[in-house]
Amino acid sequence: MWHLVACADPTRLDAHCPVGLELLSSGVDPEGHCLVDGECPRCALANAPVLPPTAPSPPLAADTLAADSEVVQPVAPPVEN
Ligand SMILES: [Zn+2]
Repeated sequence: MWHLVACADPTRLDAHCPVGLELLSSGVDPEGHCLVDGECPRCALANAPVLPPTAPSPPLAADTLAADSEVVQPVAPPVEN
């Protein structure tokens, strides 16, 4: 399990944001959802405005898009001539 270096107390549930609390109480990795000065930097990041469109998209997203476009290709109904 990993916590932020600045985590108030990795063993204390109330030292984590609601997300971290849920993850911790279900026994999984809190993924750094620790409260630092009463705020969770990870949630703050998640709630931050999305990156501008000029930012390069991660290759994983491109792969997913390519796979999706193949799946949604329309299938022409059989035509008898
Ligand atoms: Zn959080």
